[in-house]
Amino acid sequence: MSGLAVTRAIVIGGGIAGMCSAKVLADYFDEVVLVERDQYPEGFEHRRGVPQSKMFHTLLERGRRDIEAIFPGFHKLLESRKLPKISFGFNCALMTPRGWGRNVPVPVQRSLFCTRGFLESAMRDLFTADPRTTLIEQATATGLLAQPHPHGKFCTGISYKIRGEDQTQELAGTLVVDASGASSRAHQWLNAIDVAPPREHQLDPLLTYGGQLFKLKPNARFPKQWWWTHGAFIQRVPPTDNAAAHLIRQEGDLWLLTMVAGDGHDMPKDRAGIEAFLHRMRSPLIYDMLPYFEPLGELTSYRLPKNCWKYYEDWAETLHGFLAIGASTCVFNPNQGQGMSVAAGDAGILRSCLAQTNAPEKLPKLFFKEQAKFQRNAYQLACSNDLKFASVQGPRTLSTRLFNWYRDAITRAGAADPWVARNVAEVDLLLQPISKIYQPQFLFRTLFACVFLGWRQRPSAVERVAPQPPGPAVIPRRLRVTIRNSLGTATRYVAFRLGLTR
Ligand SMILES: Cc1cc2nc3c(=O)[nH]c(=O)nc-3n(C[C@H](O)[C@H](O)[C@H](O)COP(=O)(O)OP(=O)(O)OC[C@H]3O[C@@H](n4cnc5c(N)ncnc54)[C@H](O)[C@@H]3O)c2cc1C
Repeated sequence: MSGLAVTRAIVIGGGIAGMCSAKVLADYFDEVVLVERDQYPEGFEHRRGVPQSKMFHTLLERGRRDIEAIFPGFHKLLESRKLPKISFGFNCALMTPRGWGRNVPVPVQRSLFCTRGFLESAMRDLFTADPRTTLIEQATATGLLAQPHPHGKFCTGISYKIRGEDQTQELAGTLVVDASGASSRAHQWLNAIDVAPPREHQLDPLLTYGGQLFKLKPNARFPKQWWWTHGAFIQRVPPTDNAAAHLIRQEGDLWLLTMVAGDGHDMPKDRAGIEAFLHRMRSPLIYDMLPYFEPLGELTSYRLPKNCWKYYEDWAETLHGFLAIGASTCVFNPNQGQGMSVAAGDAGILRSCLAQTNAPEKLPKLFFKEQAKFQRNAYQLACSNDLKFASVQGPRTLSTRLFNWYRDAITRAGAADPWVARNVAEVDLLLQPISKIYQPQFLFRTLFACVFLGWRQRPSAVERVAPQPPGPAVIPRRLRVTIRNSLGTATRYVAFRLGLTR
């Protein structure tokens, strides 16, 4: 349709979704061109095209697996560059709305904790090593090219501008993928080619993030009893306590302080402001850690964009040869750290759709449907959690209220039943679909734990404001396995000596 003798896929934006999808497309198209508005930095530095990258970013286990499948060797490369191993309840304290959390052995242990720049730079190194993809840097996509088609329209390429040049250039392609993130201008691009954009759902979480890098002062040593050697996390408490903070160890000797301010809280602007903010938190734990650190660089703040869902899956228009992926289709509060995993997961879905067809007439509908099924988990979790906060304006439907009530019940049950805790963590880590929590076994165990165990396990009012977290409560997994194996061997030996077995 584009008049090309070869098939060419064009990807707009070289963030997580862009790099992953370009790599996936390279198996199915003769050429893949990635157009990125930034000049990629040499190392881990921040770049303008991803303004959120100065804020805390964790990569969940689901995202780690998906990126590893697309870029084999990704995790090893990160580890070779000094990646910290963080484990809630063992070396990082977590204060949830219900009080200090205890460790439950869940796959959260394999989620990655490092700066966004560090993570992206490893992906970039693996991406640029693949000769099948062409990268055009400092190139901003400015529009879509289209031709009429017997059924709808056909996207035949993009127009773009190289930084510093006046002229707009055109690039023809058989497939165009919008991976330009939360600031995507697809809405305007579609209007410009007379295609009505998909309808949208929006919800403003009314939150501002603040980030400050630190390093430990020379010779600084935490007190011996501080087992939270890799950081601390204090979450918001609905409906009114809209302030959160975390100070977490990153790659090398870096630490990142993140503050989240909602309605009624101002984002600090200097060191005195940071201290005042942290001192007001439910626990002064992070405030107490602060004197051990010295700041690196500036304190930056970032107003969170609205949660936004673009209904591409039931888009009335037909635009063949056009896809949108990652945050360009669905943006949500990063409270649960799911955004990059969704972007990488979308690329995994693209790969399974491409295995069925790479025909530009068939691929978009198939892909948008599958992508929506996957993204809906994270979007629903983020929006329903935001609606717990009184300041957020949005319809609190019966289903939202029931969902939030059930999620709270699950959290309470999880404190008493490790099976529930492990399974709900897998849903939060996007390893299981959200439908898992409605399975009969889940419902039964939640109900049972809440009625018979949960009430006893509720944190007391005193515990809720306890200034310091309890030590690790669960025996580490390796020790548990050793004890179980030794008991097994001892039992077998006794049975053998008693002549019960041969
Ligand atoms: C404060 C904050 C904290 C977050 N924390 C986490 C977290 O802990 N864990 C997590 O998984 N996610 C987190 N996220 C979400 C995460 O940042 C995004 O979901 C993720 O980056 C989306 O990836 P993407 O590739 O779709 O978009 P992006 O990563 O934003 O990439 C978009 C790319 O497109 C380029 N681009 C844009 N427009 C054009 C154009 N016209 N032409 C060419 N190139 C263009 C940009 O330069 C950029 O490189 C957080 C977000 C915020 C705001």
